[in-house]
Amino acid sequence: MAEAHVLIFPLPLSAHVLSMLKLAELLVLQNLRVTFLTTDTIHSRLARFGEIKVLSESYPTLHFKTFSDCNDEGDHPGFGDRIWDFISSVTLHAKPFLRDILLSHTPQIPKPSCVIQDGIFGSLSSGVATELNISIPIIHFRTVSSCCFWAYISATKLLQFQELPIRGDDDMDRIIKHLPGMENLLRCRDLPSFFRPNKEGNSTFESYADRSRQSLAADALILNSFEDLEGPVLSQIRHNFSKVYTVGPLHHHLNMRKAESNKGKEIPRFKNSVFQVDRSCMTWLDAQPEGSVMYVSFGSTTIVNKEDLMEIWHGLVNSKKGFLWVIRPDIVAGKHNEDRIPNEVKEGTKERGCIVEWAPQEEVLTHKAIGGFLTHSGWNSTLESLVAGVPMICWPYFADQQINSRFVSEVWKVGLDMKDICDRDVVEKMVNDVMVHRREEFLKSAQAMAMLAHKSVSPGGSSYTSLHDLIEYIISASREND
Ligand code: UDP
Repeated sequence: MAEAHVLIFPLPLSAHVLSMLKLAELLVLQNLRVTFLTTDTIHSRLARFGEIKVLSESYPTLHFKTFSDCNDEGDHPGFGDRIWDFISSVTLHAKPFLRDILLSHTPQIPKPSCVIQDGIFGSLSSGVATELNISIPIIHFRTVSSCCFWAYISATKLLQFQELPIRGDDDMDRIIKHLPGMENLLRCRDLPSFFRPNKEGNSTFESYADRSRQSLAADALILNSFEDLEGPVLSQIRHNFSKVYTVGPLHHHLNMRKAESNKGKEIPRFKNSVFQVDRSCMTWLDAQPEGSVMYVSFGSTTIVNKEDLMEIWHGLVNSKKGFLWVIRPDIVAGKHNEDRIPNEVKEGTKERGCIVEWAPQEEVLTHKAIGGFLTHSGWNSTLESLVAGVPMICWPYFADQQINSRFVSEVWKVGLDMKDICDRDVVEKMVNDVMVHRREEFLKSAQAMAMLAHKSVSPGGSSYTSLHDLIEYIISASREND
């Protein structure tokens, strides 16, 4: 009988790759064989800025395979409006490579016996398996929040109830009533951003909804979430999918499993990144008082216009609080003119600020100097903040971020939602609310959620058990198809 061999295939974008790489590590820790498939560019960035060489050496059953980049997208293909074009072109381009990999084997490494693909690829793997006339279990993994995934799945229902389409700017505060598990919780503005009409008055949610519905035909679904976080939505998803494994928060789950298996041997914490990490901010943080610093980061793909950047900057400086801000070199749309930064902003930053191009975020969020996180509400950032018990100010940019930020402020009550507003006075006020006036209230709920997250990945916890069930499923389904 051949051993189980899982092919893991994320969308080749930073956050998708890193969270699926964590899943890969969790599986090899449990003695499964894993091949991780990504593009040449992502792989070489992981090798340059991360530690994947050490990672492969530490885990003999983890292999990397690459395929060529599909166009001239360069280092940052997934920006803003262009993301759907990117997803579509990778889905087409990857097909022949996937076909080859599903058939390839060596005397040492058997053919893959199970595929875990990014759910955003829809029916890609099952289509390839059908063409090849092979039977192989196909599991979809979604990197977005479960509430966002469920909103995509429910799009048809929202259309039937005439809750969609959104009818322009004046309609943004209308309450969505018929979204099961989230009844009367969301306004139109809190739906995933692709539900919003674009400049031409059309919205692109159908593409995302369609890809999400394709997951209904997968053999199983993995979500980076946990029961105590998104329980009501997860129950709705479970009514529609036969096998759902919630194994999140993945980063914390991995750290816990490593600590558990470290009894006999040392497995280091691998630093995986596709950007050059600037650790100088950790020394700066060491010198700051406890809970005094607002960490500001908008993730790997957000684009900010110059005006908004300046509003945030003024707000941070005017709040008189310390701040650590990640400003990627390519974050600003158009050229940013350094000369036009007013003196008081420069002075305030020199006194109380630290700016880096990319930070070791997981580590930053657990630093004792951090008192809050001004975030774009990407799902990984949200989970990392929840696990660290850090209250948030949310300024969502796109995709699931609009719905994640609603959950932060209205469901988990661990922060404030600044959605669709970018004004220096609002930033100043929210920073002071989170760090001073409402600090105790937010800290209390953030720490309670951190405890629940920890419990979920501890022995007997929901995600801990779910990972065990997932591995059992992979092994038995691989056997059946042997
Ligand atoms: N991140 C990081 N350093 C930074 C900014 C972000 O390591 O300076 C990591 C962060 O820890 C998270 C990921 O990048 O794991 C961002 O993922 P998220 O889903 O929040 O947002 P996206 O990049 O997809 O917009």
